[in-house]
Amino acid sequence: ATPTALLVGTGRGARLGILIKGADVLEDTRRIDTVVLDKTGTVTSGEMTLVDVATAGRLPKDQALRAAAAVETGSEHPVARAIVAAATSRAIEAPRATDFASLPGAGARAAIKGTEVTVGRADLFDDVPQELARPTVDGTTVWVGWGGRAHASLTVADTVRRSSQRAVRDLAELGLPAYLLTGDHDQAALTVARDVGIPVGRVIADVRPEDKHAMIADLQKRGKVVAMVGDGVNDAAALAQADLGIAMGTGTDVAADSADIVLLRSELPAVVDAIELSRATLRTIK
Ligand code: ADP
Ligand code: MG
Repeated sequence: ATPTALLVGTGRGARLGILIKGADVLEDTRRIDTVVLDKTGTVTSGEMTLVDVATAGRLPKDQALRAAAAVETGSEHPVARAIVAAATSRAIEAPRATDFASLPGAGARAAIKGTEVTVGRADLFDDVPQELARPTVDGTTVWVGWGGRAHASLTVADTVRRSSQRAVRDLAELGLPAYLLTGDHDQAALTVARDVGIPVGRVIADVRPEDKHAMIADLQKRGKVVAMVGDGVNDAAALAQADLGIAMGTGTDVAADSADIVLLRSELPAVVDAIELSRATLRTIK
């Protein structure tokens, strides 16, 4: 390929809000045959709101939310931000927490008046009472508890970006099947997949952050040339593992640093534009 044509291509990308790191990235873009999409913050807006609180025994809902918000004040995760925002909007004042620890891909932990409180996935607790085990509301459920036991569940819901469905369809028309990859549980993943038209067989859920890149490697072992689109710290290794890493501009710096392409317009149709641009640029070269 001539360097001039590739430079023109990257220049055109920049005007479309598609930051292409190096001219050879366009050639990698043309080779891909599979696109893996992170769920939270990529297919969805990542702006979550609290939709349900359930408690065990006689624990007041406000108290569960207060404890969760105290812990989550230390976290940047979209689930954490939704919990803190819900407490604030209900005028619930969260006590100060100390010894905050983030548990990537699982939750967060902190001490409130000497008690260690955990918020996150069910498997962080030794014991989840029957009445809290099966969330009945659509969304992402996390549990809050102490002493090894979950005492309440909080469900947050995210909105699918309106443009995501169109992008999945356009990718299919370009001959590129889309996969959904997430650390969230099955139910939440399937709801989003159904919304955007990704079949059940291409949903990979309950994946730990440290395993996301292995899922990409798996697809590569099956002969696929994979583009990964993500936004989070937990996506960085997968973005690096993929044949082409694409980061959402609204995402974290770590994700952007690991990617080959950064989308300043954080919408999936920009992925389609990038692929069409690479095809058009390389066609003029031949
Ligand atoms: P995704 O792959 O969808 O971007 P993550 O890998 O960041 O999600 O997190 C996976 C799951 O771990 C979340 O769906 C949530 O259940 C839980 N989780 C992660 N961080 C937190 C947190 N700060 N508070 C509560 N739950 C969390
Ligand atoms: Mg994400």
